[in-house]
Amino acid sequence: MTLDLFSHLTDFDICSFGSGSSGNSYYIGNADTSILVDAGINGRNIVRNLEEIGKNIRQISGILVTHDHIDHIKGLPDLSQRFGIKIYTTAKTWDAILQNRFTKHVRLSCYNEIISLKEFVIGTLKITAFPVEHDAADPHGFHIESKGKKLSIATDLGCINKESLPYLSQSQVLILESNYDETMLAAGPYPPYLKARIAGKVGHLSNQQAADFLVEHRGNGLKHVFLAHLSEHNNTPEKAIQTLEKTIITKSADPSSTAFHYHAFDRKKRSRLIQISLDSTIF
Ligand SMILES: [Zn+2]
Ligand SMILES: [Zn+2]
Repeated sequence: MTLDLFSHLTDFDICSFGSGSSGNSYYIGNADTSILVDAGINGRNIVRNLEEIGKNIRQISGILVTHDHIDHIKGLPDLSQRFGIKIYTTAKTWDAILQNRFTKHVRLSCYNEIISLKEFVIGTLKITAFPVEHDAADPHGFHIESKGKKLSIATDLGCINKESLPYLSQSQVLILESNYDETMLAAGPYPPYLKARIAGKVGHLSNQQAADFLVEHRGNGLKHVFLAHLSEHNNTPEKAIQTLEKTIITKSADPSSTAFHYHAFDRKKRSRLIQISLDSTIF
């Protein structure tokens, strides 16, 4: 198909199959290697989503798992049992997956242990898991390098800690949580304990926290931002984008120099297959 004519030119191919508390799964690949980050929607939907973007589940070399919340792991038993896909995660997250009654039937032989902050390789991708602050067993984000080009993904984090900062700030492509609008959360329907959990240091990143990082602390090489894991009740894609744009205007030393593209992923709808060439982007 037409898109594949360009795949050898692109640094990263990205597709979101779902991004938020109803389920997270992202396709990330280059011309040689295809992986998933998280499998929090059911296996059949992941297989179908891959087919819709011209990929086959059997091309997937591994699933990186960020943490053990069900919206990130739900599809693991099915995908591992049916296709034997390797699962890359830390020992503590794997233990938590085995203890969860919804995922305990994951195929044991699919487990590949990864060590926090220690680089590993899948095909032509060099990957490092970095710890993030979130109320799960052992939450991590991932830094993925493809032929010298760098992408980081961090979708459940209460704040940006010192371990994640170097990875996020050296990336040219970022998939970053922008979970809630602070006013909507405060005025919204959630009980106080849940509001406190979401807004806390080990909860989720707000639109303003994400925007502040992107405007004030990002690295100079940043070219593409995908806002992810937006809340259904406490956010809208428009709010997330507005907050970022307002922050660029009010907090950038020179707003016209903010030369990165940004886009908010839909919670439930699959995104397009986004083909990123860092020299000239093909959309
Ligand atoms: Zn989540
Ligand atoms: Zn989570």
